[in-house]
Amino acid sequence: MQDLIVQKYGGSSVANVERIKRVAGRIIETKKKGKKVVVVVSAMGDTTDDLIDLAQKINEHPPSREMDMLLATGEQVSISLLAIAIQSMGHDVVSLTGAQCGIVTSNVHKRARINEIKTNRIEKELEAGKIVIVAGFQGINENKDITTLGRGGSDTSAVAVAAALEAELCEIYTDVDGVYTADPRIVKTASKIDEISYEEVLEMASTGAKVLHPRSVEMAEKFKVPLVVRSSYNYNEGTIIKEDVIMEKVLVRGVSLDENIAKISIFEVPDQPGIAFKLFSALAKSNIHVDMIVQNVNRTAVNDISFTIDVDELQEAVSVAQKFAFEVNAQKVEYDQGVAKLSVIGTGIVANAEIASKFFEALFELGINIQTISTSEIKISCLIDKERGKEAMVHIHKKFDM
Ligand code: ADP
Ligand code: ASP
Ligand code: MG
Repeated sequence: MQDLIVQKYGGSSVANVERIKRVAGRIIETKKKGKKVVVVVSAMGDTTDDLIDLAQKINEHPPSREMDMLLATGEQVSISLLAIAIQSMGHDVVSLTGAQCGIVTSNVHKRARINEIKTNRIEKELEAGKIVIVAGFQGINENKDITTLGRGGSDTSAVAVAAALEAELCEIYTDVDGVYTADPRIVKTASKIDEISYEEVLEMASTGAKVLHPRSVEMAEKFKVPLVVRSSYNYNEGTIIKEDVIMEKVLVRGVSLDENIAKISIFEVPDQPGIAFKLFSALAKSNIHVDMIVQNVNRTAVNDISFTIDVDELQEAVSVAQKFAFEVNAQKVEYDQGVAKLSVIGTGIVANAEIASKFFEALFELGINIQTISTSEIKISCLIDKERGKEAMVHIHKKFDM
């Protein structure tokens, strides 16, 4: 759709009445430039965390379906308040839940994927001249149950809406000026990146830089949605994310830290074909995303297998692992939440063996033990003690002179 801009405002940008009014003003400015505007909003401030706490006070492991029902209310509050603010400033506006704007997802609760957006309702409202406010993070499955897309999922809602409507731009408004070489709240010397490729920012997002939901970048790349990350607090330029970034090839673009993971180990698993298949297909069937995998070869006929997962999926992953261990007669299952994954990202990594050695040297200088290493063409990750994660991140950022 011509002249259409999709804007997404994160939780901190709509955390209170004063900020909601400021965001409303900003949306109206865009509208006055002659643009059609669709806005995707997250829940106010820490609402999602507060709702999770509330549920856990009743049941430590609440059912996923009811959690989605509960969490989706957060975004319903913020869309309506934002619409009230825009309306009181004299502009036509309508707020829509995920279901109302036809965001159809898979059946998995708490981490659903968007399958389709039936855009007719949004299009009708835009044609009537209205600003459309869409609830981020939520959709509806084929049973008409409310689903959510995983923490941070409003970014994905925004990109999906932008892709479906063929918007000219998708702007992600947040509480920092753009994508930095490292989390600016941890590494004070981190610098803002002006332009970055989908590929590099996807690795940063997937390794813990929570400024963008990884799925949102995947989708932006697939549908070639031009993305900008910028602050809702100022008018600074932000970071442009697109396919071809013309700039000097930087060896290491950024460093990220994921503290939101856990390691599961299964000891003394029989050393025979089909074992890994059995375990990881069971995890996949439960929609548990597995990251780093190591298998230690023992001298006897058994192995130990370890893997990392998102900490939010720990409970489910442990029960799948325990069932597997029982079936194959493994010795025991253990888990560890005291780990973090530290990664360096950059398209220059594949061609430069020194980058890995410099990374390991930096950890050695701090006396930090590496539990697991994994690499891809543009990334090297190490699993380390969570307590030392931030300190290691600061040191590596300095070591690579980012
Ligand atoms: P929102 O509520 O707007 O979605 P988030 O808290 O999800 O905001 O994401 C923004 C936060 O991401 C920043 O406050 C920052 O601390 C963190 N962050 C982590 N890594 C990076 C990075 N490389 N660049 C920018 N921000 C980052
Ligand atoms: N409100 C949701 C969360 O806190 C979605 C989002 O902020 O993107 O995870
Ligand atoms: Mg976010």
